[in-house]
Amino acid sequence: MSLELSSKAKKVKPSSTLAITAKAKAMKAEGIDVVGFGAGEPDFDTPQYIKDAAIKAINEGFTKYTTASGTDELKKAVCEKELAYNHLQYAPNQVVISNGGKHSLTNIFEAILNPEDEVIIPIPYWLTYPEIVKLADGVPVFIEGKKENGYKITASELEAAITDKTKALILNTPSNPTGMIYSKEELEDIAEVVVRKDIYVVADEMYEYLVYEGNEHVSIASLGDEIYKRTITCSGLSKSYAMTGWRIGYACADAAIAKIMGSVQSHQTSNPNSIAQKAAFAAITGPQDSLYSMKDEFDKRRVYMYDRIKAMPLVDCAKPLGAFYCFIDFSNVIGKKYKGEVIDSAARVAEILIQDYSVAVVPCADFGSPANIRLSYAISIPTIEKGLDRIEEFLGILE
Ligand SMILES: *Cc1c(COP(=O)(O)O)cnc(C)c1O
Repeated sequence: MSLELSSKAKKVKPSSTLAITAKAKAMKAEGIDVVGFGAGEPDFDTPQYIKDAAIKAINEGFTKYTTASGTDELKKAVCEKELAYNHLQYAPNQVVISNGGKHSLTNIFEAILNPEDEVIIPIPYWLTYPEIVKLADGVPVFIEGKKENGYKITASELEAAITDKTKALILNTPSNPTGMIYSKEELEDIAEVVVRKDIYVVADEMYEYLVYEGNEHVSIASLGDEIYKRTITCSGLSKSYAMTGWRIGYACADAAIAKIMGSVQSHQTSNPNSIAQKAAFAAITGPQDSLYSMKDEFDKRRVYMYDRIKAMPLVDCAKPLGAFYCFIDFSNVIGKKYKGEVIDSAARVAEILIQDYSVAVVPCADFGSPANIRLSYAISIPTIEKGLDRIEEFLGILE
């Protein structure tokens, strides 16, 4: 007998973004005027028609177990949405509804990985990817999306990283944390390598609706039959419909993969919340005006934030075209002096900003980019203005 705990689970890092949001909330509760740029969720309330559907579900007694992989009604709605928005043809038996996009990703890696299988993760990455790959006994392999290329990887960089053990590539477009989006041409080149090397793509399209400046979201699975077969498309309602707390996400894949994901889920969590599934059905099939009005508001904030950052000394930012984040390069701040102290990392900047300026930001070491900071614009423009004024003041006194 040994009381040693799981060495695999012990290696998991707690989510630093959730920790920062919690710290900002705690400071606010103490009455401190904190500006929280950490938010990984829309500040909007869930639209009323979605709430109404949930209330109706409760009143009508839709409060029991559903099929473990989700209701047929919701799967069909997801299929119709994937066809209309992403030109992807899926049947309900190819869809698994889960407890949020994060849970869908967990199911995907449990379904496709064997011990020691490698998963290629482009840097910068959403901090959850390496952790869930490791929990599914996989090995994360990182390749860098170069700043000159908008932090995106190229097909040849992908090819160079593929080994005999490579099982999958994670592709997140629009990207959290960079706000970058892959063009159709870039995706075609990547798809060609994926098909030739015969690996999977896990396409995390959580921000598919949040694309700006007339850009269109392109699903890599839509680029041909061969890439379609090898892609597991994953999305959810959290970000587009301001439904983070409801916990509904989904994955669409080859029917054999979907079946395994459904079996895994049937033992781990059973069905996602029945009421939230009704709400999600209403969200997807109902009037989409609120989705687009939230997007328009994000767009205004995006432009405001980007313009302000570009005008600041020392920092640099590529213009985000999707999601709701600015990914800011602080490399020229590292080495500068703040009140006599030499700043050694973006993490230290984040500490100073919260302590001395009451501004919460996300340092990106856990996203693979220790010289960067992520600011979310899922907060109001007056709040963004106040927070950016403070950051500008901080930058202005560096020596
Ligand atoms: C927020 C997010 C998700 C998952 O969100 P859920 O709340 O679990 O639905 C997945 N991928 C990325 C990149 C995200 O930012």
